[in-house]
Amino acid sequence: MLTNDELAKWDRENFMHPSTHLGQFARGEAAQRIVTGGEGVFITDRDGNRLLDGFAGLYCVNAGYGRHEISEAIAAQARELAYYHAYAGHGSEANITLARMVMERAPEGMARVYFGLGGSDANETNVKLVWYYNNVLNRPAKKKIISRWRGYHGSGLVTGSLTGLELFHRKFDLPLAQVVHTEAPYYYRRPDAGMSEQEFSAYCAERLEALILAEGPDTVAAFIGEPVLGTGGIVPPPAGYWQGIQSVLAKYDILLIVDEVVTGFGRLGTMFGSDRYGLKPDLITCAKGLTSAYAPLSATIVGQRVWDVLMRGNDEFGVLGHGWTYSAHPIGAAAGIANLRLIDELGLVRNAAETGAYLTQAMRAAVGDHAHVGEVRGEGMLCAVELVADRDARRFFPASEGRGAAVVGAMLRRGVIARAMPQGDIIGLAPPLCLSRAEADQIVAATAGAIEEVLG
Ligand code: PLP
Repeated sequence: MLTNDELAKWDRENFMHPSTHLGQFARGEAAQRIVTGGEGVFITDRDGNRLLDGFAGLYCVNAGYGRHEISEAIAAQARELAYYHAYAGHGSEANITLARMVMERAPEGMARVYFGLGGSDANETNVKLVWYYNNVLNRPAKKKIISRWRGYHGSGLVTGSLTGLELFHRKFDLPLAQVVHTEAPYYYRRPDAGMSEQEFSAYCAERLEALILAEGPDTVAAFIGEPVLGTGGIVPPPAGYWQGIQSVLAKYDILLIVDEVVTGFGRLGTMFGSDRYGLKPDLITCAKGLTSAYAPLSATIVGQRVWDVLMRGNDEFGVLGHGWTYSAHPIGAAAGIANLRLIDELGLVRNAAETGAYLTQAMRAAVGDHAHVGEVRGEGMLCAVELVADRDARRFFPASEGRGAAVVGAMLRRGVIARAMPQGDIIGLAPPLCLSRAEADQIVAATAGAIEEVLG
């Protein structure tokens, strides 16, 4: 696994990698992989391995690797106009066209799209817009954002606070005071085994309402959530969850930010997760699937209710003081246009629904009855296998045993990349949306073999 050539050495000596154990990596104790290419759902590395990428990078290479339509569009844009800013009404054909394409695909009730670079900065934008909104409405105390434990919304200051995973708070003085967390909609980990899904959903809505009342409804500005919990464990919501949550939010005049960074542009088998669950967002966060990660680009889609207040605010207080040098970067926009066209041409939203359902069913058939598999769950092209020490008691392995990581390691030896989700022993799968049934079978065989090897 570890190579001693020059590039590998430079990597360990110079490069500070994100979400990596810095000491172990620098000392050569943690694995390193130098990726050289990709085609379809496969990547290749410098050691000559060809691996089925069952996590599409970081659930982002939705169209698959090696799509010339996207790389050619990027090259053409770089030749024609690599950059011009978007401040003070400036645009390019690419970002104006992409704005129209995003709005054509957006759920009902959305008014405009703002482009940034990645999911974290898009959520940062969302929080700022929510605060601005309440200031314009002369409600200066209404600023808190409610997020869920196990939600993932980025790793900046505010967005790392919104993220409800201990790893992203530890030793960073997070979460910030304006962020509070409520119950995760994680039915498998419900507090009382006897609860039905509907009862658990009602319980989540009650907990949210109790939190709002405890904080003071006049201090709570917005609720943020992913349609399906992603990094927190790939957990589809229990039946009735979003209905219950949305009625509590409506009661206390609280905005809804739907974080569709993973689910936007097809992953759930619908264009947006909001369509899948009947959500009525005030703001939508997009990134990853917008360009299939061929270039960095994010989008904040602004709902009509917020947009009207932003317009009024600018009329009263002047220009919106928000933007980045690279907002709406033309190269990212060109990648986005080519990617969205490809998603349509290849029917990838439909394939996410159909092949995704096949993957989850095949996985359930292969490992669902294993003594150490608590649950196989999925939605669209997302699938997770949750490992447990004791199925009947829903007892988990101690985190220190690293069972999930061991299974993922054994899958890698079988040529398949999965992700050991950061909290719990959960094998996460989020392949490119172009996955075929034969490739789904390969993922399932690797998972079953790895579970057998590690857990018996
Ligand atoms: N929101 C969700 C739901 C995500 O899954 C992620 C990243 O995985 C983010 C936000 C943050 O995006 P980025 O890593 O591009 O900043």
